[in-house]
Amino acid sequence: MAGPWEMVIGLEVHVQLLTKTKLFCPCSTAFGAPPNANTCPVCLALPGALPVLNRGAVRLAARAAYALGCTVHEESVFARKNYFYPDLPKGYQISQFDRPLATGGFLALEDGPGARGVRIHRVHMEEDAGKSIHDRYPGHSAIDLNRSGTPLIEIVSEPDLRSAADAGVYLRRLKQILEYTEVSDANMEEGSLRVDANVSVRAAGADALGTKTEIKNMNSFSGVERALEVEFARQVALVERGERVVQQTMLWDAGSGTVRPARSKEESHDYRYFPEPDLPPLRLTSAVLAEWREAVGAQRAEPFQQRERALERSGLRSLEPRKFREVALAPGKQLERGAGEIDAANLGIVLRRERTLFALVPQPQAHPRCGAARAAGTLVRGSARDALEHEAVEADGRIEAHDACEA
Ligand SMILES: [Zn+2]
Repeated sequence: MAGPWEMVIGLEVHVQLLTKTKLFCPCSTAFGAPPNANTCPVCLALPGALPVLNRGAVRLAARAAYALGCTVHEESVFARKNYFYPDLPKGYQISQFDRPLATGGFLALEDGPGARGVRIHRVHMEEDAGKSIHDRYPGHSAIDLNRSGTPLIEIVSEPDLRSAADAGVYLRRLKQILEYTEVSDANMEEGSLRVDANVSVRAAGADALGTKTEIKNMNSFSGVERALEVEFARQVALVERGERVVQQTMLWDAGSGTVRPARSKEESHDYRYFPEPDLPPLRLTSAVLAEWREAVGAQRAEPFQQRERALERSGLRSLEPRKFREVALAPGKQLERGAGEIDAANLGIVLRRERTLFALVPQPQAHPRCGAARAAGTLVRGSARDALEHEAVEADGRIEAHDACEA
């Protein structure tokens, strides 16, 4: 075969939902806790422990799906994805397989009517695994199960992307949508957004897809773009020599700028999916879905630049949680409007980012959120309280009574 060659890319993006607790147990999802501190019989997979679905996670997952123009199904089914790995204590991951939460969306790469874009194949929910740590103890591996059971969605695109640059545009727009709808903080450094890419080559203009490889281990958008270019060049060289592309998993090494085949144990398995017997099918009423869809309808129509400006104004990106603590919660210091870079309107966003805030508020009262509301009382009473109430609903996915909470 002769060139020119066309690159065909599909992306699978794992996104951590911005819940306060895990997908099937009440353990905290806060980042940075001591190893194995945020665990319980459910996420440690002790015998007899049963999962209970976090409704708040479902709501965020559906919100993301609607923001991507998907159809969210009234019934979806959790399934066991079986594989053995040291950081997966159950021996399976609860995911969704043939009955995912949502299907059939679209992400525009440009603004305006008729803009080109990428079809979204599906959005499904699943739990995260734990983490193996190989560099802590010489000759040994350690396991941290704090992430075990953390709620994720996987967003799977159709193979509609044709260049590394477009893959970068897709990821930046996707990240923005997730931030703007407050589905996720989409923080790649903390592992809240992870990208796997399926890549193949074919003669330009051909219909049939070539054999694909999957690239993993990319931890920045620019890394994704570089990895795609490198893998594309590798595949083109193979094909031009008359060799075949082998379907396999490749790992990106950002340091050397190369891809290498994953070791066999890191490759894909026969997952032997079957419906999760410990969870009933996930059923959502059409009324609830209509309400959730409506809530993101207007946001979805807003142009990219407009959302960018709103995000910048909101402080969601610029206001670091640690800075918030330093400025706002220093000993003896009350929150004040205009003190530092804190704006009352941003409090809800900051609270959702800084999930340990409630533990840090001096002398919390009976209800921790009331304590925080009092601490924030000198800010702007109404907005602080509203933000806290919003936080309570969004973080836990439960509506709580706030009548007793007087700021
Ligand atoms: Zn747990």
